[in-house]
Parts: sequence; structure tokens; C-alpha cells
Amino acid sequence: MLISQLLQRKGGNVATVLPGTSIADAVAALAAHRVGALVVSADGATLNGILSERDIVRGLAAHGLSTMDLTAGDLMTADVVTCSKEATTEQLMAEMTNRRFRHVPVTEDGNLIGIVSIGDVVNARVRELEIEAEQLNNYITGR
Ligand code: AMP
Repeated sequence: MLISQLLQRKGGNVATVLPGTSIADAVAALAAHRVGALVVSADGATLNGILSERDIVRGLAAHGLSTMDLTAGDLMTADVVTCSKEATTEQLMAEMTNRRFRHVPVTEDGNLIGIVSIGDVVNARVRELEIEAEQLNNYITGR
């Protein structure tokens, strides 16, 4: 399945924070949006980085509670792997598995148009495989 189709279903909303947002506020944003990662963006369109709950856990291990006073820019991963809407769910599943992360922002002409999580791609892939299995079953049983 194409990422464009997946985004049509889930929408293009992306939870973003500014690079200067405190980790305390980023934690509140993660909870409010019920997501595991925030795109860090100074203008809401281009990417400065990605901040996942895992970055915050690592920050806590390294700096203790003072982590809350650091900023999203301090803990984010700046070198973000993105994809285009022409990518497929199979490609993203492989990328996420090989590189051990669970989020891939989708960009077009350098601007953010959505984000895909491992949950999104697994759900889409399971649905695809269920449909395929049903079609094969119908073919075999002549229905
Ligand atoms: P995650 O599994 O997505 O919670 O992230 C695990 C680690 O990978 C964290 O350090 C994230 O900042 C980083 N990360 C998450 N998504 C990406 C991405 N698309 N490109 C580069 N790094 C990422």
C-alpha cells in the first residue's frame, strides 16, 4: 500500500514542537496527543528533528529530573529519515525494523505532510494480507 493511501485514511496531522520547547512541555504534548514522538520544527513545516519518548528516557537516565528543563532541541535526533507519499508500507516496515525506530515523517518538497508510525504500517499491512487471504479463499472455494 502507498503511504499516500495510508495518509488519506489517517489524515496528515502531525504533532510538532518548537526546538526551544522545554522537555516538560514536550512530555505534556506527547500525553495530550497520545503519540510516541513529536516532530521538532521551528516553522511547523520544515524539520529540525524528531523527539521520541525514548530520547526523553535516555535524557532522564543521563541527567535525572533536570532533563525537564532541557529543550526539545537538546534531546532530538537531528538527522531524520523521512519518506515521500510514493513510498510503500512494505518499504517503511523494513526501514523501521532495520534502523530500529518507530516513526517516519512524510515530506513533500521538504515540507511535512504527515507522519507514519510502526502501528500505522503494521495495521495497514495486516488489513492488506487479510483481504488477500479472503480473495484466495474465495478463489479456491469458488465463491
Ligand atoms: P522511536 O522508536 O521512533 O521512538 O525512536 C527511537 C530513536 O530513533 C530516538 O532516538 C528517535 O529520536 C530516533 N528516531 C525516531 N524516528 C526517527 C527517524 N524517522 N529518523 C531518525 N531518527 C529517528
